[in-house]
Amino acid sequence: MERLRLRAGMVLDAEAVLGARDVVVAGGRVVALEPFGTPAAAGEEVLGDGRSLLMPGLVNAHTHLAMTLLRGVGADEPLERWLERHVWPRERRMAPEDVYWGALLGAVEGLMGGTTAFVDMYFHADAVARAMRDAGVRASVAVGLAGEGEAFEAALERAGRTVADWRGAVGGRVEVRLGPHAPYTCPPASLRRTARAAEELGCGIHIHLAETEGEVERALAEHGRTPVQLAADAGLLDRPAQVAHVVWPRAEDLPLLARTGVAVAHCPASNLQLGSGIAPALALADAGVRVAVGTDGPASAPGLDMLDGLRLAWLLAKGARRDPSRPTARDAFAWATRGGAQALGRDDVGRIAPGAAADLVLARLDRPGLWPPPDDPYAVVVQGLRGQDVRAVVVDGRVRVRDGRPVGVDLDALRREVMARARRLKGGAA
Ligand SMILES: [Zn+2]
Repeated sequence: MERLRLRAGMVLDAEAVLGARDVVVAGGRVVALEPFGTPAAAGEEVLGDGRSLLMPGLVNAHTHLAMTLLRGVGADEPLERWLERHVWPRERRMAPEDVYWGALLGAVEGLMGGTTAFVDMYFHADAVARAMRDAGVRASVAVGLAGEGEAFEAALERAGRTVADWRGAVGGRVEVRLGPHAPYTCPPASLRRTARAAEELGCGIHIHLAETEGEVERALAEHGRTPVQLAADAGLLDRPAQVAHVVWPRAEDLPLLARTGVAVAHCPASNLQLGSGIAPALALADAGVRVAVGTDGPASAPGLDMLDGLRLAWLLAKGARRDPSRPTARDAFAWATRGGAQALGRDDVGRIAPGAAADLVLARLDRPGLWPPPDDPYAVVVQGLRGQDVRAVVVDGRVRVRDGRPVGVDLDALRREVMARARRLKGGAA
């Protein structure tokens, strides 16, 4: 295992601004914080310098990485037409290897922008998990499930095998959970079945809830319950649960989400692109709900740049409430790091301290747009930092991006694969 010394003029996590430090990494963990410039021990690789900033890796708390293969399709369509005319025809043609290459591309794109962990949901989840293993990122991969009856039972059975196959794999870096798509695609009986299966398997849940206003109105009309209540009724929120969106919660949903300790992935770019609205992230946080940030899939958002997502979350919440005082840059930074760690169910992720998982991002503050840096180091990240400023990324103690380039991934080969696969998937689709 590599032994690393990450050196930066500014080290920070959501807990504290640590200033100029050397952070020593060995065996996948942060082992020590030492004074800046401490001479390296034999065999230590030194990364960074006085003009660098070191922070915990960002956690993309909701995405569908393989949708890189569908990038930009149907960009101006509302959700239902976007799915029916553009997404589903392509997805029906997708083989596991398409999903593998699409997810690998997504992981590399995210890594190069400072994301070290992903919460994903897709079909062919085994292929997604393999891509996460090979990209070297941390991931919670949900097996996408929808429908009812015998077909649903069969899918659930297969999903259970995938969960079991990945248990404890690659040192726990990749885990698989169940992903009932949403209450509008999974009737209450299927949601209940999923909750029972998750309990038997000892795994978590990932689900979309209250993404659009229409979804909430239909759930109330058909079931007399909100999507959040339907998930809670089924027992899904009693499992370790990651919930995406919650753009349109009713007042009664907030205590349900807070009480069960689920993490809500706020996906501002996707909610804007699909015209779904602006999630009340601050109201959720104030009600005691754990808030994280996600990009959603790169077909319903401009891409997988979590620094963009973080900045949007920070700006939108101020604008939506016409109150510039909250969230602070530090609040938003915490959502994308500690909040994401809670979505992963990992207390050792998203912070920089001895014993913490070594998932770290080193950025270099040499772009004119970063001069002079704001006094608040969190504002340096939230207002100023861009994906292109990321120079090195470490996941689980291993260098996965060095000098701004991914390690161990042939970008030319990756490009050839995804271009050919995206062309084939298009077929006769719009
Ligand atoms: Zn989604």
